[in-house]
Amino acid sequence: MSLTVVDHPLVQHLLATLRDAATPPPRFRAVAKRLSVALVIEAVRDLRTTDTEVRTPLERTTGERLDSELCAVAILRAGLGMVDAVLVLFPRATVGFIGLERDDATLTPSIYYEKLPEVDGRQVVVLDPMLATGGTAVAACHRVAREGPAGMRFVCVVAAPEGVERMSREHPDVPVYAAALDRGLNDRGYILPGLGDFGDRLFGTPGGSGLPG
Ligand code: URA
Repeated sequence: MSLTVVDHPLVQHLLATLRDAATPPPRFRAVAKRLSVALVIEAVRDLRTTDTEVRTPLERTTGERLDSELCAVAILRAGLGMVDAVLVLFPRATVGFIGLERDDATLTPSIYYEKLPEVDGRQVVVLDPMLATGGTAVAACHRVAREGPAGMRFVCVVAAPEGVERMSREHPDVPVYAAALDRGLNDRGYILPGLGDFGDRLFGTPGGSGLPG
């Protein structure tokens, strides 16, 4: 597995806004979308193209067209904040959703909701903004992998070393793209310094600091 930290100045500028506890949900949503556009562009750098002939108003030339359709899979609920970014770039992309919850006894994530489009042979972008312990990311990638995608990449806003390590162990073939690799996790599984609970900050639900509501 490879981790790419997208260190573009605009990405880092937008990340600082997301980290800022004073950023309200409407701005958080808008900035999350802009930041995700930049991350997704980087994450699909490996898409294949085929040469095609194009006629400009002046003459014929050679262009390139993407070979494959893209499929985005958003992990609920925070991944919803990244879906529009994919659709802005790839209006014909199909979008799937996976909801996971953690069993308190076994601590293993299980799927409580899923709606996947055709994945077989497609290039898939899995979206979840916070790669924390990696449990959810790994479970979602397992699920998508069973459908036979042509390729997969995982796009998050902030990654923790624990999640990166787990992904590299369990999905060495899935590259991870992030705006930052943070220090680690606190005892409640929140990323430090992080940005709090991404879903809460996106939707304005209580507890967005990552601290008890
Ligand atoms: N999920 C979040 O929303 N934030 C974290 O810091 C970790 C997991």
